[in-house]
Amino acid sequence: MIDLLAQTLREAGHSLTKPRMTVFGALQAPKPKTMNQLVTSVSDIINRASVYRAVALFEELGIITRIQHGWKYRLELSDAFTPHHHHLTCNKCHRIISFDEPDRFDEIVSGIAASHGFVLQNHGLEVYGLCPECQTKKAAT
Ligand SMILES: [Zn+2]
Ligand SMILES: [Zn+2]
Repeated sequence: MIDLLAQTLREAGHSLTKPRMTVFGALQAPKPKTMNQLVTSVSDIINRASVYRAVALFEELGIITRIQHGWKYRLELSDAFTPHHHHLTCNKCHRIISFDEPDRFDEIVSGIAASHGFVLQNHGLEVYGLCPECQTKKAAT
């Protein structure tokens, strides 16, 4: 993965610096991070400004993607750098849970595309609801 990162940066005329490597490493965690969580997780290695600069560059180069939910967003590595997956987002606490898609899901999607004369290239799917914790809270009040 670091090789692919270095290559992606090099092709765009950038080098693999320590802040870039650190931010990339922090985003390899299984859960998408908010900007604050990301800054906090690397705060003993690099400062906030370096994190912001690395994130801006990574977004520009398609290395990371933003999962937008209302006015909030979380960051994660793009499909090229992480196994393909989808998200369940809680409408109340904004937590995001990643899940692998079921077997043959791609077949279903290409079937839909084909029925409209499309050749499938990629797809996205976001699922929204209430997480177990928020359901409990609701029941308690
Ligand atoms: Zn929730
Ligand atoms: Zn998928």
